[in-house]
Amino acid sequence: MSYPWLQPAEEEFAERLVQGRLPHALLLSGPRGTGKKELASQLLAGILCLDSDWPACGNCRSCQLLATGAHPDCRILTFEDHPRTGDLRKELIVDQVRGLISSLNLTNTISRRKAALIYPAEAMNTNAANALLKTLEEPPGETVIILVCSDTARLPATIRSRCQNLTIRQPEPADALDWLQNESGLDEQSARAALQAAAGSPLEALRLHREGATEQYLLLTETLAKLEAGRIGAGSALAALADVEPDRLWSWISLLAAGRLKSGGRPLQQARELSKLQSAADLNRKLVSTPVRKDFLLQDWLIQWARISA
Ligand SMILES: [Zn+2]
Repeated sequence: MSYPWLQPAEEEFAERLVQGRLPHALLLSGPRGTGKKELASQLLAGILCLDSDWPACGNCRSCQLLATGAHPDCRILTFEDHPRTGDLRKELIVDQVRGLISSLNLTNTISRRKAALIYPAEAMNTNAANALLKTLEEPPGETVIILVCSDTARLPATIRSRCQNLTIRQPEPADALDWLQNESGLDEQSARAALQAAAGSPLEALRLHREGATEQYLLLTETLAKLEAGRIGAGSALAALADVEPDRLWSWISLLAAGRLKSGGRPLQQARELSKLQSAADLNRKLVSTPVRKDFLLQDWLIQWARISA
């Protein structure tokens, strides 16, 4: 199943594929939560399918092997566990890229082409990115490398300049709302709240709704409104928010502060303090997995919020 906002990118890709104009390196970029990875999987299937150009047939040996994750002509490079600590690495490293390159140098066994997927491409560290450059420029044989990226600013210019772009845009707010209401059966007000909590991403909004997190977002906005109006104090606000998952809480708080800043029309001093509070929220989010007392951080933040809103 594909999402309506992905159709322009799909059509553009299909045209290149059918006309034999596929690049060696394709940079699939767009905001988080728009289905880039799902689209990349479809593109891989199309590149490798034995029976059809587009869309992939879903039945041939290539399509079946791809579905099981065991296609010998396809390599996927993403975060791996650290062999010693067992923790998931937060970057893509040079050894992974070297492994990818040597597998691309082998002869293809099933499909006409070889394909590789790298995501999130912006997580490649400097050595990994440098190791990939030559292969992006002159890949062995008929190879297509797809790089999936949510933040192209973090991708080295040397990588960007060697790729053809395929860009996905966030759907228009009205289209996102329509889609979300259709998928979830939510009423308009709740769907709007879910989209707000997801910074406009319809897929993330659907996920939040299914996890019951939209109610928590509404609880947060209501609690902050009461705090600003002086109807409750920071202590009561803290108690009201006790059950909201901390990582989400801080990302929403940061989003709300950013929204306030963007709406403008406030004195410079207040805007500065608001900006500081947003930075504090981002910092506190990073401390979620540390032993720091989270309730102190939140109480302090709420006191500052009440003070600048007064
Ligand atoms: Zn097929």
